[in-house]
Amino acid sequence: MSQMGCGYGKVMPEGSKVGYVSVVRSLVAFTRVDRDETEKKPEKRKMFWFGANTKNREQKERRLSQNMRDTGHRLKTKTYKDKFDPRVTARYDIKALIGRGSFSRVVRVEHKGTHQPFAIKMMEVEFPEGREVCTTELTVLKRVSHPNIVHMVEVFQFPHRVYMVLELATGGELLDRVVSKGHFTERDATKAIKMVLAAISYLHSLGITHRDLKPENLLYYHPGSNSRLLVTDFGLAIDSTSVDTSWSLRTTCGTAEYMAPEMVQRKPYWSAVDLWAMGVISFIVLSGSMPFEDDSRTKLYRAIMRGKYSYSGDPWPCVSNLAKDFISGLLRVDPSSRLTAEQAQQHPWVASEAATSSCTNLHRPISHNLRQRASRDSSRCHSGGGGHGSARGRRERRIHLKVCNTRYLIQVNKG
Ligand code: ATP
Repeated sequence: MSQMGCGYGKVMPEGSKVGYVSVVRSLVAFTRVDRDETEKKPEKRKMFWFGANTKNREQKERRLSQNMRDTGHRLKTKTYKDKFDPRVTARYDIKALIGRGSFSRVVRVEHKGTHQPFAIKMMEVEFPEGREVCTTELTVLKRVSHPNIVHMVEVFQFPHRVYMVLELATGGELLDRVVSKGHFTERDATKAIKMVLAAISYLHSLGITHRDLKPENLLYYHPGSNSRLLVTDFGLAIDSTSVDTSWSLRTTCGTAEYMAPEMVQRKPYWSAVDLWAMGVISFIVLSGSMPFEDDSRTKLYRAIMRGKYSYSGDPWPCVSNLAKDFISGLLRVDPSSRLTAEQAQQHPWVASEAATSSCTNLHRPISHNLRQRASRDSSRCHSGGGGHGSARGRRERRIHLKVCNTRYLIQVNKG
């Protein structure tokens, strides 16, 4: 259930305006690899059918598709392996590609000595934008240590690529779990929100603002019900101890639907922007819909600046007033009256884990709303190929979104 608020993708800091064309180039390069891989397959299939013995066609077809899958997997793994520096592959076995970001690929690996699984985030740092994002992420990950923040085990730094070895999160994204659970109550929501708030509170105590909190960046460590929830993706974070905040904390960045009003208005801001994002996340987790959304970015920003959202439609009539009070405390336009991370943790709805709320199962309306939104996004963002739910569909959609995002950046540059 990725990409809530995918309509606009990520907005990079304005400081990254230089060299947008290179972003396009790197995106095209990434996309081309995919196309090359998929284009090879029909050719192979054709060769087989010309030489096939019709008697055992079914059996052979099955064998062939298995072979093709194996070969495809081997080729893919080989392609990624080839891109890895031998000093990395000397220590880690590359197992599979997990996903990709604007400047990164994330793969599942196994430590050769201990056989322990990890994730390696490989970042291209050839171009200034990638370098900027990578430096930011490294600075933060080197400083932090918290059970609800993804842990960096080690890092390999080379001139064109950086490899961050991270703890592997296998439990999926926050919203995927909400949907897959089959049963979801306010109590479940508070458990997840509590963990994210603990991470935010810790980050803010260190002077770090995440600036891109959204459900896709919240991953469960393992599939079990007692799993830790991890905050990931610190590419847009700001560490006030290591940067000139007089400039950085004026920068508009993040993902449009989660941006705080002060950021949208280009006013100086501080860590309260993370709490606004937390309000948006809580709204989504409890309802499967967005508090602020519009096909027009101007209208979306206007709605955010007004701070006008509504608790209408399902499942809101079943949601407790205490939960709504919590969200309202976070979605306050004036950042100085917004709940801080600590206050949010102490809010009775969170602190009591919704003890006084009803145990109504919100799963059906939430999943319904999420599905509806995903198909709206899909028809808006994804123009063809790969079913929406399929891995390929998700991957292509992700790439397409990056392209949408880049277009936006170019428009800003021209404007
Ligand atoms: P962008 O760079 O544009 O923000 P992104 O956040 O998707 O995109 P990454 O943070 O590089 O980019 O993540 C790419 C994919 O890898 C995502 O699907 C993410 O969920 C997954 N991922 C990232 N870190 C881990 C990890 N430690 N364990 C498991 N999966 C991870």
